[in-house]
Order: sequence, then C-alpha cells, then structure tokens
Amino acid sequence: MISVSKEPVVVVGNGLAGISFACALRQGGYTGELTLLSDEAEAPYDRPPLSKAYLKDGDTQRIRLDESRLNGARLLRGVRAEMLDLDGRKLTLSDGQVIPWGTLVLATGARPRELRSLEAFGKPTLTLRTLDDARRLRELIQPGRLLLLIGAGVIGLELAATAREAGCGVTVLESQARVMGRTAPPTLSDYVAGRHLRAGVDLRLGRVMAECVEGEAVLDDGSRIAPDFVVVGIGVRSNDELARAAGIRCDDGIFVDGHGRTSAPGVLAVGDVARQVHPISGEVVRIETWSNAQMQGAAAARSWLNSDTPSFAETPWYWSDQYDLRIQGVGIPRGEREVVRGDVSAGKFALLQFQGRKLVGASCVNNGKDFGLLRKLVGLEYEANDQQWASAPDLRKIA
Ligand code: FAD
Ligand code: NDP
Repeated sequence: MISVSKEPVVVVGNGLAGISFACALRQGGYTGELTLLSDEAEAPYDRPPLSKAYLKDGDTQRIRLDESRLNGARLLRGVRAEMLDLDGRKLTLSDGQVIPWGTLVLATGARPRELRSLEAFGKPTLTLRTLDDARRLRELIQPGRLLLLIGAGVIGLELAATAREAGCGVTVLESQARVMGRTAPPTLSDYVAGRHLRAGVDLRLGRVMAECVEGEAVLDDGSRIAPDFVVVGIGVRSNDELARAAGIRCDDGIFVDGHGRTSAPGVLAVGDVARQVHPISGEVVRIETWSNAQMQGAAAARSWLNSDTPSFAETPWYWSDQYDLRIQGVGIPRGEREVVRGDVSAGKFALLQFQGRKLVGASCVNNGKDFGLLRKLVGLEYEANDQQWASAPDLRKIA
C-alpha cells in the first residue's frame, strides 16, 4: 500500500473558517508546511460588521481577523485555486503556480445569488458579501436617498436598519409572506417586521419585482418604485465548483462528515461551503453562520491532529443586530409548540420551540441571559411543562 503524507497542508479560502482551521492546527502543535490562499486581495477580515458597524464607522482595522497565531504559514492573496488534481495531489492557481498538497482544506464559502432582471436597471445595483461591496455601499448610503432592498432575510433587514438610521428611505421587497423566513419562527418575524415598520421602512411582503423599466422597479401588483440604488439579498450559493469539477460529492455544498472529511481522501471542507448533518433536524444542510465557520473549522483541525476527537455536533446558532434589537437564535426555528417567555410587546423575550418534550430551538430578542442558557439546553427532552418554561425566573432550575 502506498503511504500518503498528510503534509503539506493547503487551505483554500482565508475567511473565518479557513483561518479558524489554520489557527487550531498551529495551536494543536502542527509545525509543518501550511499555505493559506484566497482570491481576495484583502488581508483576512470578518464579515458580520459589513452590514452593521463597518457601514457606520468605515474602520477596516476593527474587522481584521487575527493572523498572529498562524506563525510561519505562507499566505497567498489575490490568487484563485482553479483546478484540483486528486490523484496527483496538486492544485493549479490562477497565476500558473501548481502547488502540492498532502491535505487540502476547502474553505471557499459562498457568494450571493444575483437577479438577472436587474442587469440593465441603470441604477447602482449590488450584493453584499465582501469588503469591496461594503465600501461601495458606504458611499451610496446618504441621507435622503432611496434604497430598494430585494429580500427580507438577514442581509436585507440588517441593511434596512443601518440605512434608515443613516437617513435613507428604504423599501424592502420579500417574496415570502414574512421576514427572516429561513431563520425566525413566525412570532419573531412579525415582531421584527413591526420594528421595521415603526422605523419607517416600506415593507412589501409577498411581492416580487416583475420587471424594471428606465430605473423604475415594477412590482407584480403593478406598483412602481424609483430607487437611487438597489441591494439584492436573496440568499447565497456555495463556492463548491472546484470540488465538484474534481468529482467530490457535492450538491450546492460539499458533503462532509463530523470531522470535516469529504468523499475524497485527504480533502476536508469547512464553513459555509460544507454540507453537514444538522444535529437537531438530522437534515444535511449548509450552515451559514459565523459560529459554525469558527467552530466547525477549528473542530476539523482538531480531528485532523487527533483521530480520537469526537464528531463535531455543536448546535448551530446566530445573532443579528437591527436597530436596538439583538436577535439570537439556536437550533431550528420551527416546532409543534411555541412557548413565549417574557413580554413580546416590551421587546425582551424568548420563543422556545418544542417537539413533544424536546426543546428543538429558541429565539431571543434583547435577552442574552436566557439565550446563554438556552444554547446549552437545546436538543434535549425535559419534564417541565409549558407554564414552567414560560414563567420560571431561572431556567437552570427547571431544566
Ligand atoms: P467566507 O467568509 O465566504 O470565505 C471564503 C473565502 O474563500 C472568500 O474570501 C472567497 O473569496 C474565497 N474563495 C472562494 N473560492 C476560492 C478559490 N477558488 N480560490 C481562492 N479563494 C477562494 N453570521 C452570523 O452568525 N451573524 C452575523 O451577524 C452575520 N453577519 C453577516 C453579515 C454579512 C454582510 C455577511 C456576508 C455574512 C454574515 N454572517 C453572519 C455569516 C458569516 O459571516 C459567514 O457564515 C462566514 O463568514 C462564513 O465564513 P467562511 O470562511 O465559510 O466563508
Ligand atoms: P436569506 O436566505 O436569509 O434571505 C433571502 C430572502 O429573500 C428569503 O426570504 C428569500 O425567499 C427571499 N427572496 C428570494 N428571491 C427573491 C426575490 N426575487 N424577490 C424578493 N425576495 C426574494 O439570505 P440573505 O441574502 O439575507 O443572507 C445571505 C447570507 O448572509 C446568508 O448566508 C446569511 O447567513 C448571511 N448573513 C447572516 C447574517 C446573520 O446571521 N446575522 C447577517 C447577514 C448575512 P426564499 O426563501 O423563498 O428564497
């Protein structure tokens, strides 16, 4: 049998997942050859501030990811991985280099879905994923301008809040009947929609753009909007092309096991691009959150270093900041029963989702105390009844 060295390690993508993998590798004692490469020319940065703090303060230093623990790693920027040779264990880059790998880590993330119908709109039209996108957006967000947001997911709503606070008029179009449909239970969607309406956002639910004519968007109900600029936030697609072309098992995302291993020996995938078993729903999904990129990335490195490392099974969670709301969610946003803790009208509450006795998810608004505990409690069955969950002063006592 031919023995294949695991070295050198090459990481494609220096977003949070790639950096977390590489840092955990060094932290775990790996001193061998390590290369990180990215098609972005920028030094590694964190994405969550791009729809929030960065648009307000423009401070690029505050969003940099910490590379100091990568000691001795080779960092290549502005270069794209274009072809993957699994048998020869080589990677061809856009500058013509061919680099060998013993272990390859695909941390290529995702990119925004685009709307073809806007191609000839005649007004600035963008999506938001990169620091360059956010720089353009910062220039466009000016008091008195009208922003049309397509999609009321997390991108659309965070931008709506930031733009309203900066004095822009904002119209949001959403094809579904409620906002944040992918991440929030209906009670939370209604609450968040109400907050946007109070802030003066023109929210059009269950509506899509039918066509655009001379800088005007014509909706499917015939109404017209003439924005100064448009941002499309209608979800993302994974950057799995490199893996797919090489024959690795993919379906809008690269299938991985609980150790980040793909169907190809020596190739791992981490972060937004990875498709993994959701620990609560059991579905095989891509988890597009900051915490997953960080934790699953680091967990794959620990598994690589030590084969006794348990499978990664952290329950996914996210946060979103909109106006004065800190929204946090864990687990899945749907259950057969919802229990409300706190006062929704007062803007501080938790919504607990149950499947029988099992707590399958929780969403909190301005309630970090409950959220910290709910993150630990989710995924298990409990004896407590709904009344106890709703009113117990301290969740630790009933769990
Ligand atoms: P990415 O960050 O997408 O990094 C992948 C990198 O690989 C990119 O630089 C890409 O250009 C590069 N790449 C791709 N293909 C190649 C190739 N062939 N060769 C070389 N390089 C390549 N999550 C939350 O939980 N809370 C939040 O508040 C939050 N806010 C967000 C705000 C915004 C504006 C965005 C865009 C995302 C937000 N997220 C948030 C989601 C979170 O940031 C992502 O889940 C996380 O960044 C994913 O990290 P990643 O490393 O997997 O992918
Ligand atoms: P989401 O999938 O969250 O939301 C997109 C919404 O747009 C969906 O409701 C979608 O409906 C709707 N939509 C789709 N097509 C149209 C259309 N033609 N017209 C109107 N509405 C439409 O994606 P986002 O773009 O908001 O987020 C992109 C990425 O950024 C995700 O990976 C997300 O995790 C990440 N992110 C996370 C944040 C956080 O966690 N706080 C903050 C910002 C970004 P349907 O479901 O039917 O397609």
